[in-house]
Amino acid sequence: MEKYYCKYCGMEYSSIRSLTAASCPRHPAGSCKGKHAPYEGSEKSEYTCKYCGQKYSSIRSLTSASCPRHPDGSCKGKHSPAL
Ligand SMILES: [Zn+2]
Ligand SMILES: [Zn+2]
Repeated sequence: MEKYYCKYCGMEYSSIRSLTAASCPRHPAGSCKGKHAPYEGSEKSEYTCKYCGQKYSSIRSLTSASCPRHPDGSCKGKHSPAL
């Protein structure tokens, strides 16, 4: 079965349709101010933050931590997975 992950929070869905229908608790505009967005990279054993290069074993743990090199300012946002 295909799996799709939200690039903001790492939540897992079986279809893009159901993923984009639900509000995202880690949406960049604010908690639940927008929908989940699909991560467009392939499934990996390790995910790298596109801003700072830190590595995490899941999108969920990557997006739960603040990024020291976030474009909005140091630790003003979460890590974001590179594709
Ligand atoms: Zn999400
Ligand atoms: Zn980062």
